[in-house]
Amino acid sequence: PTVKKPRELIRPRKKTRQIKVGSVLVGGDAPVSVQSMTTTKTHEIGPTLQQIAELTAAGCDIVRVACPRQEDADALSVIAKQSNIPVIADIHFQPKYVFAAIKGGCAAVRVNPGNIRKFDDQVKDICQAASDYGCSLRIGVNAGSLDPRLLKKYGKATPEALVESAVWEASLFEEHGFHDFKISVKHHDPVTMVRAYELLSEQGDWPLHLGVTEAGPAFQGTIKSATAFGALLSRGIGDTIRVSLSAPPVEEVKVGIEILQSLGLRERTLEIVSCPSCGRAQVDVYKLAEDVTEGLKDLKVPLRVAVMGCVVNGPGEAREADLGCASGNGKGQIFIKGEVVATVPEDQIVPTLIEKANELAEKMGLE
Ligand code: SF4
Repeated sequence: PTVKKPRELIRPRKKTRQIKVGSVLVGGDAPVSVQSMTTTKTHEIGPTLQQIAELTAAGCDIVRVACPRQEDADALSVIAKQSNIPVIADIHFQPKYVFAAIKGGCAAVRVNPGNIRKFDDQVKDICQAASDYGCSLRIGVNAGSLDPRLLKKYGKATPEALVESAVWEASLFEEHGFHDFKISVKHHDPVTMVRAYELLSEQGDWPLHLGVTEAGPAFQGTIKSATAFGALLSRGIGDTIRVSLSAPPVEEVKVGIEILQSLGLRERTLEIVSCPSCGRAQVDVYKLAEDVTEGLKDLKVPLRVAVMGCVVNGPGEAREADLGCASGNGKGQIFIKGEVVATVPEDQIVPTLIEKANELAEKMGLE
């Protein structure tokens, strides 16, 4: 991913320590990366790799796979080798799976050293193996699995409780001289989550993985994530993001990328500027916008296309865009960079916009 110079809304990025998640840098001045997680049974290697390929095609930078059983741990080396993007193994409790993931070539492991210490004091060996294999780690503190000690102290998963847990877990790695890890402090409530990340960010230079956990179905989860990530990223907090949706993971990636593009933290590819329609509309704006979006979905150049319902704001917006149309009286005026290049009948608006967009994209590709 490329980074744009932050716009005014965005405070300078907080300088965090940079780590490597395979070929993707996280933290420091690296672009904010987008992650997702597979929903397949990890040991079903074919379907898992297929889903990873779909996520890669959608623009996912890093993928995480769950590893609840031995058979999943056994599958990690093949998955890590065949994936085109870095693979993170998500492991709770069993240190032996952590070693399998590290030795199997996973780029990183999500692990909670506090859990491991409770069962088996192997944190030192994990730090050593991770260093030997160039594997990074993530401490993933979650409201739902907060240490009972902290739950008792704070009464519930408050921002302070999440942060205390994360800082303590971080110290378990740090006391062995291990620093190649990032941290998340997830909560389902965006306000609690935002506060937790703010507090955590004040206390150290760890790279931060942002997430609103169990954010819900696509609509609610998208809004919760966009609100929380927007609040944090605009203050320069956050190095990698994962949108959690009860929806196919490709949707998480699309939302994640859109959030970064909306904040000006990632170069836009296609942007459709379409009006909401109103009583003045002289064309079916929803259908027009949908058809243009569908027709241009594979275009990978930063093109701004305006689709406007009438001549009130239409020509103005259409002129501001690379390409646009303003509709009225059964016709559409087609603009390229502010110049009217054609006036076409209504049923030719979509094909004309698609044709012109492809011509512009070709030119941009040649420049
Ligand atoms: Fe209404 Fe025209 Fe504005 Fe669309 S462009 S919202 S139709 S006034």
